[in-house]
Amino acid sequence: MHNSKSDDLRNQRQLHEALILHICEELNRKYKTVEDCFEAIYKSLNNGHGPICRHCGCCEFDKKYGDRAGKCKKCRVETHFTANTIYEDCRNPRPYLAVTYLLGKGITFNASQLARATHIATSTASVIYKKIQFVLTALMKDDKSVAEVNSSFFLEVMSKRSRRTPAQQHPAAEQAAFEDEVNAAAPQSTAHNLSPLVDEPPRELTEVEQTIWDLLGQDCVPFNTLQSKTNIRLGTLSHLLVIMELDGVITREDGDCYSRVKAQFPPHTNPNSAANANNKAKTKHKLTASQTAKSAQIANPSPPPNATFNFRAAFPTDDVVEEIISSIIRIKENFHGISRKYLQPYLAMYWCVDNRRRWSFRALLQACGKHGALPAAKIEEYVTPLTVALKVAV
Ligand SMILES: [Zn+2]
Repeated sequence: MHNSKSDDLRNQRQLHEALILHICEELNRKYKTVEDCFEAIYKSLNNGHGPICRHCGCCEFDKKYGDRAGKCKKCRVETHFTANTIYEDCRNPRPYLAVTYLLGKGITFNASQLARATHIATSTASVIYKKIQFVLTALMKDDKSVAEVNSSFFLEVMSKRSRRTPAQQHPAAEQAAFEDEVNAAAPQSTAHNLSPLVDEPPRELTEVEQTIWDLLGQDCVPFNTLQSKTNIRLGTLSHLLVIMELDGVITREDGDCYSRVKAQFPPHTNPNSAANANNKAKTKHKLTASQTAKSAQIANPSPPPNATFNFRAAFPTDDVVEEIISSIIRIKENFHGISRKYLQPYLAMYWCVDNRRRWSFRALLQACGKHGALPAAKIEEYVTPLTVALKVAV
């Protein structure tokens, strides 16, 4: 029997879709009615302890099974349990459960698959899906173990238009447009300030220079303060500062302030420097997985001490590059392509499904119950930042 590649792919897709349907049927057997679904949500609130009365702190309510509102047993004030949660105004809770149930089993899917499996319109499925991706994006922010990478690594998957896509241009043009927007908005010094200050002076200092160096610490210090603290004569201090600045020991900032020189890697001393890599990404605008891997091989694998994991300061390590590539492949397989605007929520979803031990159905449902309301406008105004968070192998 001979199977062509496209047949294989079709079979794979059919199997994947069948799996999604199968899991949703399993969910339907567990939660047969709308009331069953709302009751599951009710119980997931407040870390699985159920809601608390905001007026008296009591946790017992008079309510019918599956009701979204109930009266506090103590103070008799009515509480709407889904108010100010992602379920606000929700009438059909099943698709919400379906998303958390599928993700809780490590299954990714697209909005059309969710729509077919839960018998809702694709547009509705898309909104619900986004809401939960937003919850995951917020949760991912608290995870200190994630890597931060420049979003332009994902240019290849940015093939879906969004409101942010420049008119009559390819969806990937959104990246350059957004970079320009951010750069134009940021004061020139901000980009520079992203680099950490160096701990060791770049050359040997004289005793008096050392005093100045120590005074600067990790702060930007005004000339007057330096003068009063060192008691060096005005003219002498000016002279010293000029020399130190010329030698690249200190930097003069706006407002006659001085700081230690920032850690940087001039292109001629380090060909893999951040500035270089940044330019590469900017001019190429089409960084394929293999190219990414290649640049990673030649890149310095360890970030300089003290540096934040910022693209400007360090090129991703091999582990991170591997993760970038695998995310690109998965996005292509699962969604063909996505818009730049919502890149981060998709990466957050992979972060979730790859951590099976932490993000069970129960844990996800509880996390969703803790998140505030997510009106459509909030989702609409979201834009993936230039630096995205990416899970790293645990
Ligand atoms: Zn009460």
